[in-house]
Amino acid sequence: LVSRENHGSRTVVSVAGVPIGGDTMTLIAGPCAVETPEQTLAAAMMAKSAGASLLRGGAYKPRSSPYAFQGLGEAGLQILADVREETGLPIVTEVVDAHDVELVASYADMLQIGTRNMQNFALLQAAGEAGKPVMLKRGMSSTIEEWLMAAEYIAQRGNLDIVLCERGIRTFEKATRNTLDISAVPVAQNLSHLPVIVDPSHSGGKRDLVLPLSRAAIAVGADGIIVDVHPHPETALCDGPQALVGADLEALAAMVATLPAAV
Ligand code: PEP
Repeated sequence: LVSRENHGSRTVVSVAGVPIGGDTMTLIAGPCAVETPEQTLAAAMMAKSAGASLLRGGAYKPRSSPYAFQGLGEAGLQILADVREETGLPIVTEVVDAHDVELVASYADMLQIGTRNMQNFALLQAAGEAGKPVMLKRGMSSTIEEWLMAAEYIAQRGNLDIVLCERGIRTFEKATRNTLDISAVPVAQNLSHLPVIVDPSHSGGKRDLVLPLSRAAIAVGADGIIVDVHPHPETALCDGPQALVGADLEALAAMVATLPAAV
């Protein structure tokens, strides 16, 4: 179902009217985690000023440590919905449990499946039945074939509105949080008709890598990028070191403004 072979044209996924794929280069930005209404609104305004057409933000955070901030749950979804009302930006947010899919889908414009859940097949199937577009991040230790098979689980349930997201994979290299597999973008685009976007924030894990990796994503023909921003990264409850702010955000905005088909 997701293979390019049996599909004439490339798919353009519409997220509440915002296209991902086709001639557009879509910027998705927002905080890694929803923390407070004020922080989320400030991050959304930053995202908008940088040219983002979709707001990201996690209310359910699948953290490596059980002692780390786990997200606000439904209260976080309500904050996102309020900020959407205020900014007009549709919401992309992660769901981590099949039992929460209906609830998250009732708030979200697009469901995000994170790297740690790429092969959570019950979750993929539930997301496939939720009636909302799905962003499927590549498992950090998954091959491209496994990634496409995971997308197939969603598609099999009748949902072809799937966006693939390359977010870096595990390698021996420790200088970066993950190794951005930039070649995965054209490889996945050749094998599948689905749009492929890049997450330079979670791959590099460092603010100063976000711009160079974003440029790489654009150069290689990605259909979009998803970037963390935070009004006060030094006090962020999740992934502050990779969040853009100030001059780095302005540099992203300047770059997005030069894209011929920026949304
Ligand atoms: C995220 O985007 O908030 C996230 C946790 O990403 P990943 O699943 O790629 O680690």
